[in-house]
Amino acid sequence: MRAPEVAIPPPGEGMDRFFGPAFDFGALRLLDLVLPRRCGACGLGEELVCADCRGRLRRLDGTLCARCGAPTAWPVARCRECAGRRLSFASARAAVAYDGPARALVAGWKDRGLRPLAREFAGFVVEVVPRTSAHALTFVPGDAERSLKRGQNAAEALARELGPRWGLPVERLLSRPEHGRPQRGLSREERRKNVRNTFTAVARPPVHVALVDDVYTTGATVTAAATELRRAGARSVHVVTFARTVRR
Ligand SMILES: [Zn+2]
Ligand SMILES: [Zn+2]
Repeated sequence: MRAPEVAIPPPGEGMDRFFGPAFDFGALRLLDLVLPRRCGACGLGEELVCADCRGRLRRLDGTLCARCGAPTAWPVARCRECAGRRLSFASARAAVAYDGPARALVAGWKDRGLRPLAREFAGFVVEVVPRTSAHALTFVPGDAERSLKRGQNAAEALARELGPRWGLPVERLLSRPEHGRPQRGLSREERRKNVRNTFTAVARPPVHVALVDDVYTTGATVTAAATELRRAGARSVHVVTFARTVRR
């Protein structure tokens, strides 16, 4: 008897559509072990990130805006993107630009629940972003219902991989009340409104804390989270993400 064929949907195509919303992601992780691995960005090769896509990831290791981490022609304290904006974090740094293979990897990461990708992403972060001087790492909490469905919260998975690499404890300091709407598919302005009062501190943060998220887009989410961390007692919040939107 032939084994049933299992097709893997292309990156970014929701697993819900493929398996139905009630699909057991525990079983999917088992499949991950059994099936040959494919690159999460291009679907080829035998590695989670193939050499070609790895080379096409745009590392943000040049000169940056000291505050928001946007790539700049020369070092600046504030850049066009963040000047005049009220940002509650002290700095934000990302490993790669959120375009090309990074986009596909992040989409595949969330939808396919690929825990091993968090390990790959942490490797990129450690390679590009200097170790934070914060006392502990925390993460942007996932929406309770959505992270259950997906089997994991991307930001937490990344933080848990980064902690041991930087020798820092990982602490759950924030929760996201259930009424928060997902940020995906919202406009810039809608995102800003949506994240206001979204987070609640569940523990006292250390004086200096690093806040981990998967992608920095407008900075609205991490600003809301950092505001709450500071309200709860943190003096500075340093944001660390795998990828960052880079405006042209
Ligand atoms: Zn690839
Ligand atoms: Zn900036």
